[in-house]
Amino acid sequence: MTPISDHPVLLVTGGGRGIGAATARLAAQRGYAVAVNYAHNASAAEQLVADIRADGGQAIALQADIADEAQVLRLFAAVDIQLGPLQALVNNAGVVAPPARVEAMDLARLQRMFNINVIGCFLCAREAVRRMGTRQGERNFGAGYGRGGAIVNVSSAASRLGSPDQYVDYAAAKGAIDSMTLGLAKEVALDGIRVNAVRPGLIETDIHASGGLPDRVRDLSSSVPLQRGGSALEVAHAILWLLSAEASYTTAALLDVSGGR
Ligand code: NAP
Repeated sequence: MTPISDHPVLLVTGGGRGIGAATARLAAQRGYAVAVNYAHNASAAEQLVADIRADGGQAIALQADIADEAQVLRLFAAVDIQLGPLQALVNNAGVVAPPARVEAMDLARLQRMFNINVIGCFLCAREAVRRMGTRQGERNFGAGYGRGGAIVNVSSAASRLGSPDQYVDYAAAKGAIDSMTLGLAKEVALDGIRVNAVRPGLIETDIHASGGLPDRVRDLSSSVPLQRGGSALEVAHAILWLLSAEASYTTAALLDVSGGR
């Protein structure tokens, strides 16, 4: 078992690939001990952890489907035991579905979209707040570490664009994440926890191919004022800033990382 870490402990959900992996890698370089959660792709997460360790960083890979409450509880318990008190959460795991108009969306699609992208984020935020909150008493549900911390939710520019003819369901799920960010930030402000969101635009990751649109970034880049897609690392830099003490007066912020789109 990995010894309890004396580095600040960060959990990145969906951390094995894409924006989550870039965030985990950058965080490890900045001295975080990183728990890399993944759902299915163990080899990507294990390789990332091996790379981080080879560079002298601390990381562990933990499998859990964030849409499953029992698995979320196991995930956070594993972080407690293997790394120690959680100080930062990046609620990054998310999915899209193939392009469809709302009139063609079936219940199974909608349930998957909202279970992972909304309920999963709520469950992880809940577990993080239970561990990070500095206020004692009946409000302190968790292990009572109470050191405070920061949460960054990975929303999307889709929440304000609406994504017509592609995935209004995804856009609406990210809209829920924006609202959750605003409400939770205000709710836990006196618990020593800051809560913010990044809203990436068109970012070069596998998520577009997973939704059946592998060329989506290239096809839409002319609609971006900066005339290009963004990289996962560019989003990771914004996330790491929001987690850091440099953002100590920033909470309930929705930070667009979208090239102006
Ligand atoms: P990605 O490359 O497809 O990676 C998605 C990650 O989420 C993977 O690590 C995946 O795990 C994980 N995941 C999916 N379902 C999960 C579940 N039920 N439980 C735990 N982990 C799960 O996507 P990405 O582009 O990096 O996206 C990351 C976040 O950024 C998402 O929230 C996405 O909505 C948001 N975003 C992306 C863009 C963009 O253009 N790329 C734009 C705006 C917002 P496995 O590796 O095990 O499959």
